[in-house]
Amino acid sequence: MLLGAHIGTSDGLVEAVRQGRGIGCESIQIFSKSPQMWAGPPIQPDAATAFREAVRAPPRLATAVHHGYLANLGSPKAFMLRRSRTAFRDEVGRAELLGVDGLVFHPGAHLGSGVETGLRVIAESLRGALEAFPEGKVRLLLENAAGQGTALCSTLEELQTVLALVDRPERLGVTLDTCHLLAAGVDFRTEEEYGAFCDRIDATLGRAMVRAFHLNDAKEELGSHLDRHENIGKGKIGLEGFRSLVGDPRWTETPGFLETPLDDRGYARYAEDLGALRSLLTAAPHVPPQLPRGPPPAPGSRTAGRARPARPAPRNPRRPTAVRTVK
Ligand SMILES: [Zn+2]
Ligand SMILES: [Zn+2]
Repeated sequence: MLLGAHIGTSDGLVEAVRQGRGIGCESIQIFSKSPQMWAGPPIQPDAATAFREAVRAPPRLATAVHHGYLANLGSPKAFMLRRSRTAFRDEVGRAELLGVDGLVFHPGAHLGSGVETGLRVIAESLRGALEAFPEGKVRLLLENAAGQGTALCSTLEELQTVLALVDRPERLGVTLDTCHLLAAGVDFRTEEEYGAFCDRIDATLGRAMVRAFHLNDAKEELGSHLDRHENIGKGKIGLEGFRSLVGDPRWTETPGFLETPLDDRGYARYAEDLGALRSLLTAAPHVPPQLPRGPPPAPGSRTAGRARPARPAPRNPRRPTAVRTVK
């Protein structure tokens, strides 16, 4: 998996790339505007070009824009739906300008109109957006919901229903958020459960449609339907609960973005979460370690601990000037 994080852009787009690389990100997700606003200032072509170049500089970063939170592409209310579709088309345009790989968005909520109607309205919204950009290159990535209220697409089956209704597999995909999966009652924390989860992916979306992950631990229990992110290893998924997913070779080229809580250390907190996930790639607790005979190693010695993260921790990760909560 291409491990990375959601990075704020309050210091500029190129600075976000620099900050992401600074903490060892192989992928970054950004907002192209404030997620609490319907519209944002236009992106200047120079800024977009500079961002593209910064992303492309080797090693190339995998990238995504996360859509704002106000839109509801499945709304039963005509005014709200029109507004949401306009905002979404604008966001697709911004993502195209930035040249990102994917545009992650929350599909929507039916607000009482029913699951079937809601899913159909979302599919129509997506068709409209795709038709507005016939030459578009950015994949529209539906994010699985935690299942709070009437939110749609908390199951692989509902995601698949929308994908099938739109029927444009070359321009669509899915982002799976680990916190939302657990909240929606989907378990993947043991090797066996992970295997069953992958079988369900194959039986619904097909693995090729899974284009990104959000790697968040969950504050709440399996099936809570609550969207509360926690730092890696500190929640109900636990560090070991990420092992099968993060180490699975089928996702080698798939970005996995952290959206975990930050503290006053800023992105150094992300670096810690990335380090925890990378420790899973280099340490294998199922195989007994070949320790030399003798007294047990002292805590903190090379042989006592888990393997070191693949990348060195940054010396001075910059604290972001404004950190937004990502859902
Ligand atoms: Zn969330
Ligand atoms: Zn999201």
